[in-house]
Amino acid sequence: MALSIGIVGLPNVGKSTLFNALSAAGAQAANYPFCTIEPNVGVVPVPDDRLDQLSALIKPLKKIPTSLEFVDIAGLVRGASKGEGLGNQFLGNIRQVNAVLHVLRCFEDDNVTHVEGGVNPVRDRDVVDTELCLKDLETVEKRRERSLKNTKVGGKAGEEAKAEVALLERIKAKLDEGITVRAQKLTDEEKAAIQDLFLLTDKPVLYVANISEKQIGKEDADPRVQAVREMAAKEGAGVVVLAAALESEIQQLPESDRPGFLADSGLTEPGLHKVVREGYKLLGLWTYFTVGEQECRAWTIHKGFKAPQAAGVIHSDFERGFIKAEVFAWTDLVKLGSESAVKEKGLLRVEGKEYVVQDGDCMHFRFNV
Ligand code: GDP
Repeated sequence: MALSIGIVGLPNVGKSTLFNALSAAGAQAANYPFCTIEPNVGVVPVPDDRLDQLSALIKPLKKIPTSLEFVDIAGLVRGASKGEGLGNQFLGNIRQVNAVLHVLRCFEDDNVTHVEGGVNPVRDRDVVDTELCLKDLETVEKRRERSLKNTKVGGKAGEEAKAEVALLERIKAKLDEGITVRAQKLTDEEKAAIQDLFLLTDKPVLYVANISEKQIGKEDADPRVQAVREMAAKEGAGVVVLAAALESEIQQLPESDRPGFLADSGLTEPGLHKVVREGYKLLGLWTYFTVGEQECRAWTIHKGFKAPQAAGVIHSDFERGFIKAEVFAWTDLVKLGSESAVKEKGLLRVEGKEYVVQDGDCMHFRFNV
């Protein structure tokens, strides 16, 4: 289940700096199960305090976090939807990701030119969204023309085509006003009807306000950060404030030097951790754990996965031959100190095929193939 988040934004806002910091974090993770990292794709471990606590208790040979993929999407400029810059290639790359991390420049630096003139994150966001809306307009229009032809056939297929044309025209009218698809509040049914269009402005978004190091600790008083927060609140999106340049420096330090450096910089944890955690949340992902002396490992599932589906994340045989699962909460294990203590207290349950896995469950699967 390779889910990916595309990093977008205008040139010189700090996308590559952030991507490099994220990739460095991925490359350093011990026991990392993935090794194929393309130049613009980074596999990044998801920081999880629960896995740390479980591992501290069990002391396994390996501790394996779950992960997220980040893709550095370069080349967006004003006019991209008309093929300016890397234009269509850039837009094609966004189509493939599951969510968007939109980096907004809030830092002043006279040595770093701004393609749109002065530093103004909300305007930058509008420039990018306009390009994405324009591209979506093109996609929706193409589909509308096709569906229009299908309205001429009779019967159910014709009726369905008419309904689709009506929906597409509604979406198009809003896009024309610059309203992104995600802001159009479509019903689940409507969303399903346009799912295969992979519209760019339909993807969930998280904003990163990239501030200068000097602004750390003072971001609440920074008018640009405030403006980004207000803008994001209107669309119900999250904002992570960080200094990408500093994040990159942190990742270059030996692990042991980082806590001191973070404290000196006025941080309690790297901003990257927040980006990854928020990205994970944005995608509607949950984590369950497998724990044992060999390894303690976090696994990614979608909210609502039933036990066999969750087992299938480990191996398809586990899903195919699923019999039952032993389940207990990670908090109970940490509180009681051992699995046998959890069992004695009657807190280890045996669940069947219909069990909906909860975030933070510890699971052992029984299967037979
Ligand atoms: P991209 O075009 O969006 O990928 O931007 P880059 O990551 O290449 O950054 C453009 C320039 O801005 C580089 O010279 C970076 O060093 C600089 N930069 C990025 N983030 C920061 C930051 O947080 N503070 C400062 N002062 N400079 C930054």
